[in-house]
Amino acid sequence: MPNKPAPIFCRSRAWIELDRDALRHNVQVLQKLLPNDCELMPAVKANAYGHGAVLISRELNRLGIKAFCVATVSEGIELRENGIVGEILILGYTYPMQFPLLKQYDLTQTVIDLPYAEILNKYGQKVKVHIAIDTGMHRLGEPCRNIENICKMFNLHNLEIEGIYTHLCADDTNLPQDRAFTMEQSRAFYSTISQLRERGFECPKEHLLASYGLINYSELGGNYARIGIALYGVLSTRADRERCSISLRPVLSVKTRITTLNTLQKGESAGYGLQFVADRDTKIAVLAIGYADGIPRSLSCSVGNVLIKGIKVPIIGRICMDQMLIDVSNIPNVKAGDVAVIIGQSGDQKITACDLAEQTGTISNEILSRLGERLERQMI
Ligand SMILES: *Cc1c(COP(=O)(O)O)cnc(C)c1O
Repeated sequence: MPNKPAPIFCRSRAWIELDRDALRHNVQVLQKLLPNDCELMPAVKANAYGHGAVLISRELNRLGIKAFCVATVSEGIELRENGIVGEILILGYTYPMQFPLLKQYDLTQTVIDLPYAEILNKYGQKVKVHIAIDTGMHRLGEPCRNIENICKMFNLHNLEIEGIYTHLCADDTNLPQDRAFTMEQSRAFYSTISQLRERGFECPKEHLLASYGLINYSELGGNYARIGIALYGVLSTRADRERCSISLRPVLSVKTRITTLNTLQKGESAGYGLQFVADRDTKIAVLAIGYADGIPRSLSCSVGNVLIKGIKVPIIGRICMDQMLIDVSNIPNVKAGDVAVIIGQSGDQKITACDLAEQTGTISNEILSRLGERLERQMI
């Protein structure tokens, strides 16, 4: 289709393509793993791990998903303002000044501990909540041993308690000590729930699984699986990916264009700090993407690569805020306007978020969630 006009997203300097079929595939694969009476509650925090929270959530709504979790009240508001329906649970802290927004946008707030529950109750209006229980991560949640405190929450009349949850923090390995820790977290969680039940306190929904929990411990049950990274078709590291038997497909690609080409003679250098020095005559290209778009600056100076016409070429010199340089000496007929793939497939080559994570000493979650606002996002 050589004469077909380029879709809108292809006309920008740098963009994210979202693969609708891959997202649908991942939803189906993950739904097959769900325990009985459990539904997906996709984690669309941090702009859906960089993918674009509204685009992703809209598609998930179309696929019948009726519950989401986000980190902040403003993330919840963005979804509501864009027509996302269903339950939206805020996993993080909401400052009391923002409590009116919970009601206004029909958001469900996490109760972090008893003091927070009391502050939320004093706000004086009914608010939907889920209670977070700490079973060992020691981040948010009322410690599970404080059963009296948890009971007190049920007596706070402005809290409409719709759920109770905990978060597993060692569910991503197969090490015996991590397995034992995870089983202990689950035991503590369900024991808390039965103690509450004995005292007449019922909670409609209970949940503890995130991506690795669902993949490694689906037998631990619950009514929601709060799935983030796996939904996007990625796992945190390559090793996890290789160990995992389910077939997930990456949803996101990051692409940009060559804006211009320069020829360096042997001995000439390029970029800030003259960090690249040509050891032969070299053809270099300028790409319209930089670290302000979320490309880690530590990929500079040949640590990272990009793909052009199915050929892998090195990033050279220091990555700039809005641009970067690559060595295209090996690419025939390269010209301004050609597409460069930062994450994704080109010909039979691909670069994954895990590759970038490995090259920069982090996990794919961080690479994805830091992808910048300036990238245009489109579902294709
Ligand atoms: C981010 C988050 C999730 C999603 O985690 P993934 O590992 O990406 O699936 C689930 N629960 C809580 C409490 C979170 O903070």
